[in-house]
Amino acid sequence: MTRLSLAVRVAAILALAALAGAEDYDLLVRDARVVDGTGAPWRRADVAVRGDTIVAVAARIKGSAKRVVLAGNRVVAPGFIDLHTHARQGIFQSPAADNYVRQGVTTLVEGPDGSSALPLGPFLDRVEALGPGVNFASLVGHGSIREAVLGRADRAPAAAELARMQELVRQAMREGAFGLSTGLFYVPGSFARTEEVVALARVAGELGGIHTSHMRDEAARVLDSVSETIAIGEEGQLPTQVTHHKMIGRAAWGRSAESLRLVQQARERGVDVTIDQYPYTASSTALQAALLPSWALEGGAEALRSRLADPAARARILEVVKDKIQNERGGGDPRNIAIAACGFDHALEGRTLADILEGRGLPATVEIAAVLALEIVERGGASGIFHAISDEDVERILVSPYTMIASDGEIPGFGQGAPHPRSYGTFARVLAVYVREKGLLTLEEAIRKMTSLPAARLGLGDRGLVRPGMKADLVVLDPATVRDRATFDRPHQYAEGVSLVVVNGQVVFDGERMTGARPGRVLRGPAFILPAPVQR
Ligand SMILES: [Zn+2]
Repeated sequence: MTRLSLAVRVAAILALAALAGAEDYDLLVRDARVVDGTGAPWRRADVAVRGDTIVAVAARIKGSAKRVVLAGNRVVAPGFIDLHTHARQGIFQSPAADNYVRQGVTTLVEGPDGSSALPLGPFLDRVEALGPGVNFASLVGHGSIREAVLGRADRAPAAAELARMQELVRQAMREGAFGLSTGLFYVPGSFARTEEVVALARVAGELGGIHTSHMRDEAARVLDSVSETIAIGEEGQLPTQVTHHKMIGRAAWGRSAESLRLVQQARERGVDVTIDQYPYTASSTALQAALLPSWALEGGAEALRSRLADPAARARILEVVKDKIQNERGGGDPRNIAIAACGFDHALEGRTLADILEGRGLPATVEIAAVLALEIVERGGASGIFHAISDEDVERILVSPYTMIASDGEIPGFGQGAPHPRSYGTFARVLAVYVREKGLLTLEEAIRKMTSLPAARLGLGDRGLVRPGMKADLVVLDPATVRDRATFDRPHQYAEGVSLVVVNGQVVFDGERMTGARPGRVLRGPAFILPAPVQR
């Protein structure tokens, strides 16, 4: 046989082998510390992936793979599941969701705080058609449903209106929602009484959904709010969750001891209540939601304008704003409130109310800051960052076995504005600060809070664990170096220490770069009904 014919034959064999899929696996991660997501201690093993599925987890797996990753001393864990994100716009602008992927996140859940796309089905179809880099799921928002039926009216629904709202919950569940989110802090959710929420939660629960709440109050009446969230689960007969649990303002500091006791007691009597949290001592939301009374927002922007034009109403609103800067989200000092994004004046972004006042030659008192805050709201509004949470509460809530990690973040335009660093840092920060530096959690427990716990919450039976048969959403990271780099001053910085991220078996982040692959799927909830097949 000539050398040429041998080469031809070898090439032919290789080509045939490739056609037949002769490699045993598509991806093989060798010699990893496997943190499997259950909370069990890591064990040294190889992880083999074929197609979109983990097919083997064992020591020294034999066989070949299209791609072999030598994990060395690094950890392989299930991809992180973030069940509180505001990614509705961002997923279309940055479908790869780099800020999340670089922390190891492989599934985003949208529709939190009572606010979701409505109708949900067409929105999820659009995300599916887009082809995101990560898996994408959604809740249906109570506030969105209420607004569709009642507008921004501060009243209870009539029987027929309530029935219509229930029908919208049912429809969204059938279209793939994982449950009902409420934002009883925000207009118009704040106008709903508990009974209304229970009536809607029952529908979600009957269809296998959960309830998760941005509670009515996270400051002076936070314990009442935790009780209300528990009551919604108990009377609505469905799993219920206190989302982004925190204690806002000095007067509420320390009360997490009591809120956790309420959760514990509820669980002991059989109420399925859990918590999620982001690991920062500042929150972020719209300035007007954080500082204005909700009665001032009834009826929408036009109604607010006319109230502010009335001197008596304006004075009453101003009193509330002062009180909230003094005792709630302002933590008693205008230095604690920074502008995150401001459409009418980008120059304000990243500056605190105190800073803006001093720039105008004014003293940074609470009174004058309240006037400035109203001025910003009147000129078109802004989102803010509010430093008014204590480390002690963050830590106490974090170590509760019922607490999972969720960012409450978004997919920001890279470099735009001064958003809360949670969008870039949440998961890496838990691993760096609370596992490695403070030693408050084991690595395995922290990862459980990012994987199997949220997966179980959502009823995702095939994600959240490194185990044969599960979908291959994986992250490889170095527990000695993983860290968040995003700060309040410089938020647009990616996390470090994650070296590989796999979504449905495909590599989306490879050490230093995003690969461009977009293997994410839209995940549909427990009551999803496939459209009827076309009859021939
Ligand atoms: Zn929220």
